[in-house]
Amino acid sequence: MESWNSMPCTLKFPCQNRSGWQICWGVMKTCLIRRKTMGENKKKIVIVGGGIAGLSAGIYGRLAGYEVDIYEKNPVAGGECMGWNRRGCHIDNCIHWLTGTKPGTGLRRVWETVGALEESTEFADCDIFYTSIAGGTQVTLWKDLEKTQAELLKISPEDEIEIKKFVQHVRYALKCEMPVEKPMDAMGIRDYIRMGASMADMPKVMKEYGSMDLKDLAGGFKHPALKALFTDYLPEDYVASSFLVSYATIVSGNGEIPKGGSLAMANRMVKRFRNLGGKLYCSTPVSRILIEKGKAVGIERADKKTVLADYVISAVDTMEMFGTLIGKKYMDGKWKSCYADSEKYPLFSAVQMAFDVEAGAYEGKGTIFFPCIPFEAGGKKVERISVKSYEYEPGFAPAGKMVLQVNVPQFDKEYFYWTGLEGKEYKRAKEEVVKAVEERLLAQFPGLKGHMEFLDCWTPVTYKRYCNAYHGAYMGFITKKGVKSFRVKGTVKGVKNLYIASQWIMAPGGLPVAVAAGKFALWRIARKDKRNI
Ligand SMILES: Cc1cc2nc3c(=O)[nH]c(=O)nc-3n(C[C@H](O)[C@H](O)[C@H](O)COP(=O)(O)OP(=O)(O)OC[C@H]3O[C@@H](n4cnc5c(N)ncnc54)[C@H](O)[C@@H]3O)c2cc1C
Repeated sequence: MESWNSMPCTLKFPCQNRSGWQICWGVMKTCLIRRKTMGENKKKIVIVGGGIAGLSAGIYGRLAGYEVDIYEKNPVAGGECMGWNRRGCHIDNCIHWLTGTKPGTGLRRVWETVGALEESTEFADCDIFYTSIAGGTQVTLWKDLEKTQAELLKISPEDEIEIKKFVQHVRYALKCEMPVEKPMDAMGIRDYIRMGASMADMPKVMKEYGSMDLKDLAGGFKHPALKALFTDYLPEDYVASSFLVSYATIVSGNGEIPKGGSLAMANRMVKRFRNLGGKLYCSTPVSRILIEKGKAVGIERADKKTVLADYVISAVDTMEMFGTLIGKKYMDGKWKSCYADSEKYPLFSAVQMAFDVEAGAYEGKGTIFFPCIPFEAGGKKVERISVKSYEYEPGFAPAGKMVLQVNVPQFDKEYFYWTGLEGKEYKRAKEEVVKAVEERLLAQFPGLKGHMEFLDCWTPVTYKRYCNAYHGAYMGFITKKGVKSFRVKGTVKGVKNLYIASQWIMAPGGLPVAVAAGKFALWRIARKDKRNI
């Protein structure tokens, strides 16, 4: 049993003083409210999964005064928000942009509360969303929207109407913010009015781009480079309005890249959780969530030890939860129909690889998509690939070098290709893709010849193995045009005291959904116990 004075303050404006003393209006006093709450009403939450959603839930759990244990199967927490080292280089595997970096926004406050963004956190100096090359023309979506408009108009004056319409609608989306105060189903009229103010122009975006996908958007442009530009970044089935919102996030300064990368950000959250007194058990897979008489009562670890709790939060991939931890009989119709219909609710993953290169040998910047001689990856014909340079992270490579990463998109079908390969075959298939990519990189950037070395390659199977990610998908269900965007409450029908904190509860997933899902799970528990978070 922890002593009360190692617990966080539960006041609305917490003193954060772990000694139990605070200075209020110049007078030293004990934190009596905290003592009362902790001493007499302590309940335990067990969280399965130490990704961003699990860590967020854990931190909010501690802030609300619960005893919290997180069980994570991997040796380090972070889940898909991950990075690792190879031959003196650091490979960053997640953050291309972090929605919610703009000071003053609700999501920024959440990132600060969970310690992901600290006062000292710096952001990468990137002025580019991404660049596409097609038919010998290079075109960039800049952070500066006016610069983008000027560049697109210069490249394709005949697309003036579509370009100006696109740019104007990105402007409409600039203030779009994800509501993070409480779950949407719990929002009242006042919350909607507040949300309406930040989203005043969003209906215009939805009207114009909410019922078309990226293929349709690209089809509206005449110039081949612009057509490629709009289908390069996200899968072409994505509803076009999502893409506009993503770009608007970058333009508005609400989607920066925290320096140090994904693992550093996850580690800051781990530090925050531990500083608040939470317990994180790594290398401790969970095999079952214990349910008795329709109520979650704890977990069984893979080593057969059981841990009892008042509440359980599942912060793992939701198919891992339904398929392994609680059983598919608890999966309701909404989940079932999405998982069963990959045509309507597609998922995506990738084959990725990293290289270290001599910094002076590569002239590109940011993420660049380019056409290549077709090759096969995971049985899929690939005609365009993207390469991202980490010149903004000198610490990721030894002096004079930098890391380049290549992304080759893969979908459900390719996942089955990769899982169908045995050890040696799998290795050989990866080597073939690496060789094909190396040749195409050199064809596109001849300066790299003799200055590039392979570091690592990973596939959709890696995400399955490392994170138990369903079909290797590292984002939630894609929202297609004409299909209702997937969103569920984060509770499980027929099981009390079990909550879901995962990017999967709201399309399209990603880090903002994960961190909010963790907060929302705690919001529901705290409301039940009449506590504040
Ligand atoms: C290449 C790549 C690029 C990305 N880029 C971006 C981006 O730019 N912006 C963005 O917003 N998002 C991005 N994402 C998505 C983002 O990483 C995820 O949305 C987010 O990390 C998901 O968090 P989560 O906590 O919901 O799930 P996860 O990260 O999957 O966490 C689940 C955790 O549960 C653990 N676990 C699973 N089963 C068990 C078990 N039985 N017992 C114990 N532990 C278990 C796993 O090991 C994992 O740590 C990217 C992802 C990838 C891979």
